[in-house]
Order: sequence, then C-alpha cells, then structure tokens
Amino acid sequence: MTRPVIVVHGGAGTWHPERQNPGIEGVKEAALKGFNILMENGSAVDAVEVAVMSMEDNEVFNAGKGSTFTLDKRIEMEASIMDGKTLKAGAAGLLTDIKNPVHLARIVMEKTDFVFLIGEGAEKLAEIYNLERQNPATELRLKYWKNLREKLLKGEVNYLPRLHELVEQHPELFVYETVGAVALDKEGNVAAATSTGGMTLKIPGRIGDSSLIGCGTYADNAAGACSATGIGEIAIRLVLAKTVCDYMQRINAQKAVEEAIKLVNRRIAGKANFMGLIAVDTEGNIGAAHNSPNMCWAYMHAGMSSPKASLTAEIIKS
Ligand code: ASP
Repeated sequence: MTRPVIVVHGGAGTWHPERQNPGIEGVKEAALKGFNILMENGSAVDAVEVAVMSMEDNEVFNAGKGSTFTLDKRIEMEASIMDGKTLKAGAAGLLTDIKNPVHLARIVMEKTDFVFLIGEGAEKLAEIYNLERQNPATELRLKYWKNLREKLLKGEVNYLPRLHELVEQHPELFVYETVGAVALDKEGNVAAATSTGGMTLKIPGRIGDSSLIGCGTYADNAAGACSATGIGEIAIRLVLAKTVCDYMQRINAQKAVEEAIKLVNRRIAGKANFMGLIAVDTEGNIGAAHNSPNMCWAYMHAGMSSPKASLTAEIIKS
C-alpha cells in the first residue's frame, strides 16, 4: 500500500496582508479534508475534488465564492480535474454562478464522452445534475476590481498586453490566486484538480490554464500529478502541468517543479512571468515552487498530525 499524500495551493501572486491568515487557514482546512478522504481509503480523485471544493467555498480564494471580475464586471469561473489512473479528464469554463465548478468538471469527466464544456452547454449539464448555484461576487473582490479599473481608466495602465508593467507598478492589485490540489491515494493512483475565477480584468470569454488539461492540470500514474497557478497564458504556452509530469518520469516532484519554474524564467523572461506549481510523484514525494513573491499552499501525508502550510515554497528566481 502506498503512503497517501495531498498537496494543495490557494494561488501564487502577492498575498495581501488582509488575506494571509485566512489563506493559510483555508489551505490547511482543504488539505485536511482531502487527506481524511485518502485515509478513509478514498481515491485521489475524491480527495482533490473535496480539497478544491473546500477552497471554492472559502471566499478568501479566487475560485467559486470570491472569484475575481472580468473587465466588464462579470464573473467567469473555470475548473478541471484529471484521474491519473485512467487519464480521464473533465473541465468546465465560462461559469457564472455554479457553486462548485470543480464538481461540474468531474461530472463532465464521468458522465459525458467529452473533456471540456463551456458556457451554455456546461450550464445545461449543471442543471441536469441539479448543481447548487450561488452569486460568487464579494465586496473585497469588487474593491480590488474597482482599484485596478480606475487605474486603467486614468491611463495609468496600458491594459493587459503591458502586463509586465502593470505587475511591476501594482503588484498588490494583481490577483491570480487560483486553487488547486494534487494527491496520491493508498492504491498508488494520482489525481489533480484546479479551479479559478481567472485573472482580474480579463476580457470576457478569456479561458486560462486552469481548465486546460496539460496546462493548469495534469495527472498520470506513470509519473505524478501537477496543478499550476499564476499567469495562465504562460502555463498554456509551456503546457506546464504536463511538462512537470514529463519531468517526474525521471526526477522527483520537487526537482520537477523547480525545473519547470526555471523553464518559465528562461523561456518567458520578463517581469510578468509569475507562476507557481505543486506536484506529487508516484513515490509520494511532494513538490512546490514559484517565481512569484508568494504561493499559499499546504500539504499532509501519513504520519503528520496536522497539515503544514506556508505563503512561500522554493522561490526560483533564475
Ligand atoms: N492561472 C490562473 C489564470 O490565469 C490565475 C491564477 O493562477 O491565479 O486564470
């Protein structure tokens, strides 16, 4: 029997002081909930779903309740999940009021012949399965959105193609903070899941890495599982979660995420290249690394009495 382990993240970026403690508590709670599933002989898929749902329900994170706003003040959430045993995967995007986007992603994986549903089709599936709805908007996210939008309107920011300038000038306003989880269960199966409200001020219709299999989420029993956070376009261009899994075929999870962040630094050079990664390999080694100022994350494995959490992991600068 394998020693079960779970790693979760509550997002990379700059963690505002007002949300640091709730963030730490939130990732611990998520890790514990997922770990309990593993200890009760639950699957890695069950564990990552439960862990991500816990963070979707916690408004401190940019996923589910507390999701960030698009340029025109809408909310469009997305999520994905992958089972490393079967390589089955599910994803959903452009969701406006689904309480738990990752649960819908799992329904796509298990109840349809498809991998990715967005918008109307995804909403219809949610209706068929009676998924709970809620308004994900919160006052705090609205405040962040207003601040950034004001700067945009005053011409103090040149809009998203100049993202590196924006991040440099206003790191506190850039909210990525997707949530994700990876797990290894007692039977040696791995899984990964990721969920997000996306990037603040994104154009409506923009899909990031979090719902794209291989980019924000990947799991394969031949290697391990990975969930990404940060600037989605970078993870898409580098197919980052799959890249980490490929690395894990020859090196352990920690080395793999560090290599992948080095790849980001090398190939997507510049200041606006914030990324964070968590991973678990099939030996049960965990990995966490980022090039952003913070990444809120936690882990737990058998033998620990409670999860360990932090706002930083290995920070890879070059
Ligand atoms: N990767 C997400 C996106 O680009 C944001 C994040 O990780 O916080 O939508």
